[in-house]
Amino acid sequence: MIRYFSTRDEKAEKGVSSAAAIKRGIAPDGGLYSPDVIPEVTPDFIDSLKDLEYSARAAKILSLFLSDDYSGPEIEAFCGAAYSPEAFPDGAAPLKDIGDGKFVLELWHGPSCAFKDMALQLMPRLLSAAITKTGEKRDALILVATSGDTGKAALEGYRDIDRIKIEVFYPAEGVSMIQKLQMMTQAGSNVDVCGIRGNFDDAQNGVKSIFTDGDIAAELDRRGLFLSSANSINWGRLLPQVVYYFSAYADLLKQGAVSPGERIDFVVPTGNFGNIFSGYLAYRMGLPVGRLVCASNRNRVLTDFFSTGVYDKNRSFYTTSSPSMDILISSNLERLLAYATGPVRTAGYMSELKKTGRYSIGESILGDIRDIFAGYCADDEETSAAIGRYWKERHYLADTHTAVALSCADRYISETGQERPCVVLSTANPFKFASSVYSSVTSFEAEPGYRALEMLSEATGIPVPARLSGIDRRAVRFPDVCDADGMRRRMLTFAG
Ligand SMILES: *Cc1c(COP(=O)(O)O)cnc(C)c1O
Repeated sequence: MIRYFSTRDEKAEKGVSSAAAIKRGIAPDGGLYSPDVIPEVTPDFIDSLKDLEYSARAAKILSLFLSDDYSGPEIEAFCGAAYSPEAFPDGAAPLKDIGDGKFVLELWHGPSCAFKDMALQLMPRLLSAAITKTGEKRDALILVATSGDTGKAALEGYRDIDRIKIEVFYPAEGVSMIQKLQMMTQAGSNVDVCGIRGNFDDAQNGVKSIFTDGDIAAELDRRGLFLSSANSINWGRLLPQVVYYFSAYADLLKQGAVSPGERIDFVVPTGNFGNIFSGYLAYRMGLPVGRLVCASNRNRVLTDFFSTGVYDKNRSFYTTSSPSMDILISSNLERLLAYATGPVRTAGYMSELKKTGRYSIGESILGDIRDIFAGYCADDEETSAAIGRYWKERHYLADTHTAVALSCADRYISETGQERPCVVLSTANPFKFASSVYSSVTSFEAEPGYRALEMLSEATGIPVPARLSGIDRRAVRFPDVCDADGMRRRMLTFAG
């Protein structure tokens, strides 16, 4: 039996099952649920993934963690539906060889055109089943505040899922035009979307205050509902991401680009540390990983952490061309600390972080962490240069987040002289950030609005992806914008 413990549970006594961890999201003490043992796989297991489709690879890996609560056929059915050709017409996580031992793992072929689909196509099915498995009588109301990619991916993942409703709030003037259109035109019978007059923090604070309001909980309870969240601290969002690290390796084996057991490096564009932490889990399970390179933008709090062992969020916050990585508190780092130092110290670091905005882990723990992690960063100028360089030299069109990782990969390789195969994770379709990508490729400014997508297409000869094509002409279902004060009323009306 695998039990899930809070990263701050000093006595390690309050473990829960996987279904309960997925249903609850965050532990009562504020910590993050993590498994007490990480299952290990054999080289034969990894080799056997070679000839499977992505959904079958996913089912085999997820079963290792979930089989106490979910049956084999159930997991296969969920993975089959989540990673179906309808959801991922070009394959779930295709690996592109871009030469010189570098590969790009494209994680954006899902409905929202960004990597959060990889988890959010699957997690709602796990949650829906967990509601039943834990004997819960009420249905879930998922409440999301989003600054961009999570909103659309969550709406697509949860729409028309049994026993779940979802409501998304976003800052009306604080997301890109494409992101806004994606949400305002959302389909589904159980969804609601509303813009907020204010910034992301206003939306986030509004959601937090609803979550912690006892009267609202009681009112929803009377209506047969409980609140739940879809953010990346939920175990159900991390676990599906473990799969594509194995999948990339299996594809390299299949292409003969690595021999069994040969180590490879991964370079991961990082914000909340969820994506790269899934890579760490894969490594702990036995995937032959040389280094996990954490790639940050100008908000380089993690780069500094990996070089000094000091996490310090007391610094300026920058708005960059890779907005999904503009983060000063990388929540999932807590899970790495728990494995590296145990729950007692982790609880201490987290309370220091809350009090002073800073903590220090010391030389010896830093040494252990640096055996597997390295931190690099790239500013907007370097990112833009990487987009131009990879397009001109290799005909590979990268979005801004992926380009941060490409720039870091180049620096990492030139500084270390490393010759292992290097897999760079690509987290968004370049057309989602068309205007930045266009100016990096052509050195001209794109026209505003949807025109930027057409201009990028004309400049590169790559068609606008079907999911974004003509999005400015689709029927708007959710035009409303309210004040932050109006969020409660909106939510209660939607709850019905
Ligand atoms: C969310 C996101 C990231 C950051 O992933 P984390 O798991 O938060 O580290 C990177 N790129 C894109 C496009 C994203 O949407």
